[in-house]
Amino acid sequence: QAKAEGGNALRFFNPDMQTSVLERANLEADLHHALARRELALHYQIQVDQTGVTTGVEALLRWHHPERGWVSPAEFIPLAEESGLIIPIGDWVLTQACQQLARWSRQSAHAALTISVNVSSIQFQQPDFIDRVEYHLKQTQAPPDRLVLEVTESLLMREPTRVRHTMLKLREQGIRFALDDFGTGYSSLSYLKRLPLDELKIDQSFIREVLTDKADAAIVDTIILLAVSLGLVVVAEGVETQAQLNWLKGHGCYRYQGYLLGRPKPVDALFE
Ligand code: C2E
Ligand code: MG
Ligand code: MG
Ligand code: MG
Repeated sequence: QAKAEGGNALRFFNPDMQTSVLERANLEADLHHALARRELALHYQIQVDQTGVTTGVEALLRWHHPERGWVSPAEFIPLAEESGLIIPIGDWVLTQACQQLARWSRQSAHAALTISVNVSSIQFQQPDFIDRVEYHLKQTQAPPDRLVLEVTESLLMREPTRVRHTMLKLREQGIRFALDDFGTGYSSLSYLKRLPLDELKIDQSFIREVLTDKADAAIVDTIILLAVSLGLVVVAEGVETQAQLNWLKGHGCYRYQGYLLGRPKPVDALFE
């Protein structure tokens, strides 16, 4: 009898939902081993200026799952954040990026390149975050002024005084800060004034239809003007067509990232 009821109870679950909850749990369990099993990798996507010169790259995490193949960061970063795994994973990303920076700093052709690293809010808020960044820079001998930390608006909303303090400490060593996915969060514009930011990255959702959607065009235009008047470098994300790039250039944006310029790639394939 009880068994039958238990069986009936399953009716209340949408089978798709049940699978996805299970899948998430499985994926999270697998993610626990991903670092130790060397399934994580960093790919790099170039950022280009208005003359076509590559100024730097963004480091983008990739997970090669033994059965599922490549799992998108959009899927596993939220899991890593919920489980706290983003802390060791984010630390590993920083080591890898610093090692790459150090290698490039010894090669004259690549010595000026910057590497932008995405930092999750929980990672940034760890009490030892400053120490970890300093440790990796020191261990690898990477030039601190070539490291850009990408943070999101959600970070700026939490404990603004402490976040500001952490940013200022890191900035003293030359580390730069970019505000990622700008325009998609809920942060107040006053943060732009109070925090030591160097770059604004316009979210790709505004770039996609910048040529056809008047509202997107108005938003992008306004972000560019805002960034320029605050003395910030403005980077357009998700640039896929030459027409988008031309529009951006015509409206005063001189830094681009997107499939038009190059897809994220393993480091060996970057400059081929
Ligand atoms: P993001 O930091 O905004 O990175 C840009 C995303 O846009 C990347 O997705 C990139 O592959 C994609 N992209 C670049 N150019 C184009 C384009 O022209 N068209 C389109 N449609 N997409 C483009 P990806 O690699 O899947 O990463 C997704 C997000 O995952 C990142 O967004 C970032 O928030 C997060 N992420 C990636 N790596 C890390 C990491 O090491 N640490 C943390 N905390 N988050 C990461
Ligand atoms: Mg980013
Ligand atoms: Mg972004
Ligand atoms: Mg993002």
